[in-house]
Amino acid sequence: MDKIDELAQALARLPGIGPRQGKRFVFYLLAAPAHERSKLAELIASLGKDVRQCPECLRFYNGSTTLACNYCSDTKRDDTQLMLVEKDQDLAAIERAGTYRGRYFVLGGVLTLTGKGAIHEKELLRMIEKRLKNNLKEVVLALSATSEGEHTADHVRELLAPYRDHITLSVLGRGLATGSELEYSDAETLRAALTNRRET
Ligand SMILES: [Zn+2]
Repeated sequence: MDKIDELAQALARLPGIGPRQGKRFVFYLLAAPAHERSKLAELIASLGKDVRQCPECLRFYNGSTTLACNYCSDTKRDDTQLMLVEKDQDLAAIERAGTYRGRYFVLGGVLTLTGKGAIHEKELLRMIEKRLKNNLKEVVLALSATSEGEHTADHVRELLAPYRDHITLSVLGRGLATGSELEYSDAETLRAALTNRRET
C-alpha cells in the first residue's frame, strides 16, 4: 500500500479522527522538519516501555519499580470507597477536583445501547473481592451523564448485585449536566456532583 495511505489509515483509527483528518496529519508531517517526525515516532514507541498499566485499577501511569500505581499503593487513601470511572482522563478530572480520597477502578470504556463496547468486568470483580477484604463500603459510579454512561451504570449495578449486602452503590449527583462527559467537567461541578452523590 501507498505509504501516505497506510499512515493515514493508521491515524484514522484514533478516537475522533476520520480518514480525511488522517490524511491531513500525514501531509502536515510530510511538511514538518524531520526531527519533529522522529520525536513523535520516538514518543509513540516509548509508550510501551515507559508507561505501565496498574494491575489493580488498570489506569496507565509512568513506569516505576512499584507493583501498583500511586493511588492504589498510597496507604493514606480511603479504603472504604472505590470509584468506577470510564477512562483515565476522567480519573484525572476527579483528582483535579481534589476532594475524593478513595480508591479507583478504570472500566476501560462504556457499553452502548446497541450492544457495542466493553468494560473490564473480570478485573472489576477481582478488584471488588480484594477491596471487600480491605474494608470497602461504597462503590461510586462516576460515569458520564450520557445514554452510554447510564447504560453502563445499569450493567455495573447488575454485576455488583451479589455484593449489595456489603456495599452501597452511589452515583454522582446531578449538577453534572445531562449529556456531559466527566472529562470535560470543571472542578467545581465535579466537587458538587461528588458531594451530592446519591445511593442507587
Ligand atoms: Zn492503580
